[in-house]
Amino acid sequence: MNPIPDNLSQVRRRIKTACIEHQRDHRSINLIAVSKTKSVADVASVFEAGQLHFGENYLQEAALKVAALPAAHWHFIGAIQSNKTRVIAEKFSYVHGVSNFKIAKRLNDHRPASLEPLGIFFQVNIDDEATKSGASAELLYDLVKACSNLPQLSLMGLMAIPRPSLDFQEQRAGFRKLALLRQSISNQLDLTGFTELSMGMSNDLEAAIAEGATWVRIGTAIFGARAPKIT
Ligand SMILES: *Cc1c(COP(=O)(O)O)cnc(C)c1O
Repeated sequence: MNPIPDNLSQVRRRIKTACIEHQRDHRSINLIAVSKTKSVADVASVFEAGQLHFGENYLQEAALKVAALPAAHWHFIGAIQSNKTRVIAEKFSYVHGVSNFKIAKRLNDHRPASLEPLGIFFQVNIDDEATKSGASAELLYDLVKACSNLPQLSLMGLMAIPRPSLDFQEQRAGFRKLALLRQSISNQLDLTGFTELSMGMSNDLEAAIAEGATWVRIGTAIFGARAPKIT
């Protein structure tokens, strides 16, 4: 028995329950199934269960799955090397890890004119962790402002992975910082459409929804544990 469709239903239930608890409309939450390290067959079983949005971290691995399921919407959620921006801009609908202008400009320049503008979530290093990527909150305003003139990008909002915690209130605190930052940037720059918050994973999606997440990125709770990546 393939447990994945059941897992997917359970995640959808968790989202609905959290929405009831925190007075949110569950239709305002978009689920991204994070399929990194998982097979084309696993991804297909989730797609057949009605899931449309998928997230991938590793370009080489993603290529097969994107080719197999072109009707899905693909989100690039990994670290972006500048020599990979062309492929990302051609194959994906959204990018979640943008944290500097050079990468944003390259994605803009490589986005084919025949496609919709590429959806951009700026990654913020919300806890100022040395090991984590993302723009600092201080530099974010200038970065978003500079990118607002790039015609082939559609600026969606912000993304973060706060420091992991098992404490619900601590989880909420990290997400709240991101939500306030989004609001402040959107107001200062008068950006309509800069409404989105990509936050929440398998272990903290409830806290993220409590603080206004509009996109949650869920891997383990749908596909099961991942084998450690061997590089
Ligand atoms: C792997 C990954 C996820 C999914 O994490 P889970 O804990 O497996 O749900 C979400 N976002 C990013 C950026 C990831 O790399």
